[in-house]
Amino acid sequence: MFLTISTTGTPERPATDLGFLLHKHPDKAQAFSTSYGRAHVLYPEAGELRCTAALLLEVDAVTLVRRGKGKGRGGAPDAALAQYVNDRPYAASSLLAVALSSVFSSAMRGVCTARPERAAEPLPLRVEVPALPARGGPELVRRLFEPLGWRAGVEPVALDAEFPEWGDSRYVRLVLESETLTLAEALRHLYVLLPVLDDAKHYWVAADEVDKLLRAGEGWLPGHPEQKLITSRYLSRRWSLTRQAMERLELVRLAESDDSEVEELDNAVEADAETEERPTPLAVHRRQAILTELHAAGAARVLDLGCGQGQLVQELLKDTRFTEIVGLDVSVRALTIASRRLKLDRLGERQASRVKLWQGSLAYTDRRLKGYDAAVLSEVIEHLDLPRLPALEYAVFGSARPRTVLVTTPNVEYNVRWESLPAGHVRHGDHRFEWTREEFRTWAAAVAERHGYQVGFRPVGPDDPEVGPPTQMAVFSRTVTEKDAKAA
Ligand code: SAH
Repeated sequence: MFLTISTTGTPERPATDLGFLLHKHPDKAQAFSTSYGRAHVLYPEAGELRCTAALLLEVDAVTLVRRGKGKGRGGAPDAALAQYVNDRPYAASSLLAVALSSVFSSAMRGVCTARPERAAEPLPLRVEVPALPARGGPELVRRLFEPLGWRAGVEPVALDAEFPEWGDSRYVRLVLESETLTLAEALRHLYVLLPVLDDAKHYWVAADEVDKLLRAGEGWLPGHPEQKLITSRYLSRRWSLTRQAMERLELVRLAESDDSEVEELDNAVEADAETEERPTPLAVHRRQAILTELHAAGAARVLDLGCGQGQLVQELLKDTRFTEIVGLDVSVRALTIASRRLKLDRLGERQASRVKLWQGSLAYTDRRLKGYDAAVLSEVIEHLDLPRLPALEYAVFGSARPRTVLVTTPNVEYNVRWESLPAGHVRHGDHRFEWTREEFRTWAAAVAERHGYQVGFRPVGPDDPEVGPPTQMAVFSRTVTEKDAKAA
């Protein structure tokens, strides 16, 4: 991964001042270790008239995979990492942005004690990124950089130079030029916009990313025509974070604008509110749908398999019709969070006796799971590798065999709707597969057939006439046998 920053100068204002501004001496090649590999800073050219600094990041694919595993939900390795490891070492991207901010952190803040006056003034700049993954193509690259005062030269890179008929790759060669920006502004644009264009899964997104975005976006992100796209892509389409950032940006704009603008903004916000009501988070729809089906089935003793952080268990606990609720998950970390959420240590004895959290894997049969009325698998099957799915099927439908089984999973057909309709739903980075309605039905029908269940399907969330609902649910039920009756 490679990026160069060049400037031009005169004998009075030498281009080599770039070395002071970046806090990296032009005569030395230096190396730094960053979270994702080694970063090198060197100057291919360092003269009075022209000076170029290059940042080269050698991504360590092994570290990347390890970090991905450590940070994945419940310790599960991130399937998206497969792609990461393929092109990450070569393509400029989020990782380059992270390196940029760690190697040039003072420059990004505009701090330069040796040449304070130069840090504060615009200078002629040329930035070149030879291979930039650009989702949205050259057109979007221009829409992102041009409003900020850059001239953007964007050339698509052919998939294979020897076979032009194969067409273009998703990479572009980017050349940015400007005379109106300070170095700090330029670096902050790159820090935010490189990952926005890459738009891969940023598995390190955390709550403090909102702060990082707002800090780096200070002075240019509020009021950028693509503010919404930048914010939501930067925050990996995590709607709650995006929303939080958008709200805070709106406040910044209000604080900066004069009264007439405020009025305009109020009207715009109102118009927005009419057409684009805050959607009910899909997770809420899902829990409602699950409750409805559990009630319809008359279930009292319920398993929540792959319960995650215990949101559904908490919901079930509020309803006295459920006399026993078991949350099971493979992830100890998720269970720890769940037990904190449920305040298990502070529940009264009666409440506490209704709920259990167990660690266990659905890839193995588990005798503790026998004899319950219903099992819920909410957004769980897609976290298993397809070859492990028959093992889960046997553990649930063959061995545990509750009368009712509810399975929800994303409907991949709906994914085309997300960009325009972010509805509080996040498709996880560690999904191993996402199915169409047809694929899900085929699987569910075969499972029902093999294990003596009936199966029906319900949409969860807005049912789009073309692509269906965002979540699909299968409701399995079987008639009670004599053996069950005796056991009860
Ligand atoms: N049911 C919750 C969480 C879904 S996320 C909800 O609807 O919000 C998927 C969960 O499945 C994670 O908590 C993960 O740890 C768990 N999981 C993945 N593989 C599992 C396995 N083999 N056995 C048990 N749980 C598993």
